[in-house]
Amino acid sequence: MEEPTKTILKGGEFLMKSTPAIEVFCPEDYTEEQKMFRSSMRDFLLQEVEPIKEKFDSKDGTTIAPVLLEKMGNLGFHGIGVPEEFGGLNCDFKTELAFGEIASDSFAFAQSIGVHTGLGIYPILLYGTKAQKDKYLTKIVSAEIKCSYCLTEPSAGSDANAGKTKATLSADGKYYLLNGQKMWITNSGFADVFFVFCKIEDDPNLSCLIVHKEWGVKLGEEEKKMGIHGSSTRQVFFEDVKVPVENLLGERNKGFKIAMNALNAGRIKIAVANSAIAARAFKLGVSYANQRVQFGQAISEFGAIQEKIANMAIQMYANESAWNRIAHHVDLVYDEMVENGVSKIDAKFQSIAEFAMECAMSKVYGSEMEQFVVDEALQMHGGMGYSGESEIETLYRNIRGNRIYEGTNEINRMLIPSTLLRKAMKGELDLMGHTMQIFQDLQQGKISTVAGEVDDWKFLAAYLSNVKKVCLLALGQAVQVFQDKIKDEQEILMRAADMLIQTYYLESAILRSEKHFNTSNGSIRKDICIALMYATADELKVAARDIIYASAQGDMATMVLKSLNKLLQLPVTNLKDRKRNIAKHFISVNQYQI
Ligand SMILES: Cc1cc2nc3c(=O)[nH]c(=O)nc-3n(C[C@H](O)[C@H](O)[C@H](O)COP(=O)(O)OP(=O)(O)OC[C@H]3O[C@@H](n4cnc5c(N)ncnc54)[C@H](O)[C@@H]3O)c2cc1C
Repeated sequence: MEEPTKTILKGGEFLMKSTPAIEVFCPEDYTEEQKMFRSSMRDFLLQEVEPIKEKFDSKDGTTIAPVLLEKMGNLGFHGIGVPEEFGGLNCDFKTELAFGEIASDSFAFAQSIGVHTGLGIYPILLYGTKAQKDKYLTKIVSAEIKCSYCLTEPSAGSDANAGKTKATLSADGKYYLLNGQKMWITNSGFADVFFVFCKIEDDPNLSCLIVHKEWGVKLGEEEKKMGIHGSSTRQVFFEDVKVPVENLLGERNKGFKIAMNALNAGRIKIAVANSAIAARAFKLGVSYANQRVQFGQAISEFGAIQEKIANMAIQMYANESAWNRIAHHVDLVYDEMVENGVSKIDAKFQSIAEFAMECAMSKVYGSEMEQFVVDEALQMHGGMGYSGESEIETLYRNIRGNRIYEGTNEINRMLIPSTLLRKAMKGELDLMGHTMQIFQDLQQGKISTVAGEVDDWKFLAAYLSNVKKVCLLALGQAVQVFQDKIKDEQEILMRAADMLIQTYYLESAILRSEKHFNTSNGSIRKDICIALMYATADELKVAARDIIYASAQGDMATMVLKSLNKLLQLPVTNLKDRKRNIAKHFISVNQYQI
């Protein structure tokens, strides 16, 4: 397979630039090393987790998790993306995520891994002083020290900066006295070190302290949760806990940045985990449908079931296409920064921060794709899906939190267009130039429907270009009317986010299919893209219409709406047959494999 070339696309630029298919990175492009990492993690889970998976649906998992984290640490699994000097393997972001996908297929234990290696390692790796890194990082990588991340409080969830946990400097200036309460803290039952976000004295913004359990941290009982029972989640209390001043992580008053930068990586890692869980649910659903006989035939032979299977596979394909693509963009920006003399650590966090918008998009799409797939897989089980003894029922309960933590999907949705607009305001993206050009084309009657055959890659590329114009027209119209008050128009921001997400995911699926048309199952890959394109067109029409209704009136609204319909118009094609074609492939392989 030809190596992807090195055209560098910055965060948000996908909306204004097209990418040649050869340049995207896809699961089909995994190197032998990446495959080897994935298979060693799979072997570990088969040996250590699968035989006791029921225990992770009970509180037993909370005592097994730290032992397994240490075993993973001994095998070097937590340090895939960590520099060698701290016991890591210094792999690129793609490899870290490709490995993480396999690690995520481990029921409630996946939460422990995610928080320890993601929210635990990232803050100290990116913001720690040399002394802090020397003291903590190697031991976190080996899991001798296990971590938790304490941001949420009873009165500060989405509004994290409103937290009341407070640190007061001692009279001798040697330590902070920490007081406050955190809640919903993953890994808290066994963590040795807590990254605690708090306000120092009367600061307006958060700072981050590294707090040891033995300094007097108190814990609540394990929360009674809907799912992931084997993941430790407790309240954490600090009453006059003495924290040495050298345990301030990063700069005072700059903790929010630390919290958010850790979350950027955390968000895309959720999308990666969503791929893993969706694949497990899909396999359960399809294999059940293949063996369950009703009305004298396997239920997988019914059109209604086949349509479900196709719709599930389409979204799963788009999800993994997108997160692999984003990871590659992060790596390209990282390499460019390092070549330009930026230190490896700075480049690591700046390259991920550059794609904050794409990371938020991946969290929203991935978690909603996962919810859809698990729900449909459960539905295909009929009554057996509702049984407390079926694995699909456990998955159904386990996954619901993914739309809530690492920023709720509403908060992430608002972040998506806001980040894009902020980049445009800072002059990092020529959003306005492109939008003005489209408005000019519209006024001069230069907007047109794509002509040709939907099966032609050129048609798909031209249609994608129209889809991007629709996003720019709708968002541009809203910005023109509301200006900087757009931040208060949440209904518009939510729809704009959906449009941007749908566009990115459609493009990612098309580019992957075009690149790998000849790798395997070319016709299935193409049908996936075409079915996704028609679904995207329908969703964009509604979202764009709502934005225009909310922000334009009279002739302008009519003109923009007409042009949207023209841009999004598609020829007649038999989607039912295409989806049957997709479904039959997955039914025959009895799992998600393409
Ligand atoms: C299982 C689990 C594990 C967790 N682990 C951790 C952890 O390890 N560390 C940690 O710090 N936290 C953790 N959390 C907390 C999680 O990050 C928060 O629950 C999440 O950020 C939402 O905060 P909240 O629960 O206070 O909801 P709220 O912020 O009160 O939100 C309630 C609803 O209002 C909406 N909303 C809020 N603000 C706005 C707004 N401005 N505009 C529109 N809608 C809005 C939200 O989208 C949501 O639908 C965990 C949570 C769970 C369930």
